[in-house]
Amino acid sequence: MTHGEIAGTVAGLRKTFEAGTTKSLAWRVDQLKALRRMLVERGTDFEAALQSDLAKNPTESQLAEIGFVVGEIDHTLKHLRSWLRPRSVRVPGAVMPARASIVREPLGVVLVIAPWNYPVQLLLAPVVGAIAAGNAVVMKPSELAPATSAAIARLVPLYLDQRAVAVVEGAVDETTELLAQRFDHIFFTGNSRVARIVMAAAVADLTPVTLELGGKSPVYVDDTVDIDAAARRIAWGKFMNAGQTCVAPDYLLATAEVARRLEPALIAATRELYGDDPSASPDYGRIVNQQHLDRLTGLLPSGRAIVGGSSDEASLYLAPTVLADVPRDAPIMEDEIFGPVLPIVTVSGLDDAIRLITVGEKPLALYVFSENDKVRRRFLTETSSGAIGFGIPAAHLIVPGLPFGGVGESGTGGYHGDHSMRTFSHEKAVLSKPLKPDTIRLISPPYTTGKDRF
Ligand code: NAD
Repeated sequence: MTHGEIAGTVAGLRKTFEAGTTKSLAWRVDQLKALRRMLVERGTDFEAALQSDLAKNPTESQLAEIGFVVGEIDHTLKHLRSWLRPRSVRVPGAVMPARASIVREPLGVVLVIAPWNYPVQLLLAPVVGAIAAGNAVVMKPSELAPATSAAIARLVPLYLDQRAVAVVEGAVDETTELLAQRFDHIFFTGNSRVARIVMAAAVADLTPVTLELGGKSPVYVDDTVDIDAAARRIAWGKFMNAGQTCVAPDYLLATAEVARRLEPALIAATRELYGDDPSASPDYGRIVNQQHLDRLTGLLPSGRAIVGGSSDEASLYLAPTVLADVPRDAPIMEDEIFGPVLPIVTVSGLDDAIRLITVGEKPLALYVFSENDKVRRRFLTETSSGAIGFGIPAAHLIVPGLPFGGVGESGTGGYHGDHSMRTFSHEKAVLSKPLKPDTIRLISPPYTTGKDRF
């Protein structure tokens, strides 16, 4: 799209919003059902696109992308009426008699900018909330997942109301032009460098933003847990989508004794998931592009590879890799890894682990494997993260009642289910007071005279 076309598209959506088209419950339900139909009827198109972009296994694509969004739609359709019901709140004595309530109204025209790693889920799950809340939407898929971007651009207009829902494909140039338009909310998922660009652009019109970012999500394992079971969960969460998951465990913290026991357990867990040669496994993904592969292989000297370590440029393959004996100041401990490399960093104990976590930026998620309630409570109260998972990485995002989002450097705002409704709505305060009896005269000037003016 040219710059003029982008501006024209956004202007067209605003006209539709102002005409009230997107506000009716019937329109919202109809659009959500259409989106659901698209995902079901064209599921194989999306599976093929995800296979092409990231070598995602079709089962994983259904679980983590297509089916995930279908689940979000079903949950939303089930609860939408109740989410839209005005919520009464108590009125204090000073204003009585009166009725007060909170009414959710749509914001207007919203922009959803998505990353490449879960290019269906992270684009369409926010769109579900935006439509459910009665907004017009521009979606901007990631140019780094080109097959998925093309599928979205081709299929969305066939199913959804083109007057109110638009797809703008492209990279920095197109996104910059989009950001020059006026929106009523910008929902961005990506890295914190680009988030700063988005937030700076939003300043011009005081546009509210939701920023879904990343960071280094730690895992702590102590000696009270079944080490084999913990290793299986950690390997599953880490190596899914070849580690290119924002809520993947980034690095592992354990005492030297626990780390020694974890090493063979992680070797066995990785083998159980992907066999002796993960490059031949249909279930193991590929790195999104050469630049990311180079960045990741550059991190391998940070430790001793006890699993993996091999790569293949031609197929963008990087083996699921576990690095032991990683010093805490190693290059791999600087930025979010966002790939299939799991460093193990040893700590002297719980205090040391908590200290190491809290000196860094607040992560998107923190995972704790411990059966000890005191240990769990200490992590819960002494650290801050978007989410905390006890005994399970990543799965909090499939619980629709939980807000999904970060804190500090890992993001601001949240979504999923009713939390998406909150994000994409204005909660309007409504107060209704009868003119008689005129109790306001009791508290109005002149203050010096008696308050017997009924
Ligand atoms: P990215 O920030 O590079 O790209 C995200 C979007 O921003 C893309 O659509 C891209 O076209 C656009 N963009 C890129 N550069 C831009 C610029 N200069 N100006 C305007 N727009 C620009 O992110 P990515 O590499 O696609 O995704 C990886 C990052 O996203 C990681 O940090 C990861 O942790 C994070 N992430 C977070 C979540 C979450 O839900 N919190 C989910 C997935 C990924």
